[in-house]
Amino acid sequence: MSGFEHRRQEAEAHLKMQMMKEMSELMRRTGLPPMVVMREAVRAIGLIYRETAAAHREPACCPCGWRPQEACDLEYLGQALLEASRRPRARDLGGMQVLGTA
Ligand SMILES: [Zn+2]
Repeated sequence: MSGFEHRRQEAEAHLKMQMMKEMSELMRRTGLPPMVVMREAVRAIGLIYRETAAAHREPACCPCGWRPQEACDLEYLGQALLEASRRPRARDLGGMQVLGTA
């Protein structure tokens, strides 16, 4: 596994754990249903994207070098949401069964 992939998986695990904790606490405290809380979490990501992108455009231009490309970036984020949310396809399950019995 590459250093990048290792760091990406670490970030994914950390964010999932923290967001699950926060969203569970919110649902318990507010009584809001899961879909309302999940929609707000997705909206929060959108707002964070907008603020982060603003900090990377002229004249602010963060020194990290990232330059937002809104259409591509939002497509990329939307795809990530769909990929992570969908049930695994039969094709993928077939692969998992092979791995499970090996
Ligand atoms: Zn930056």
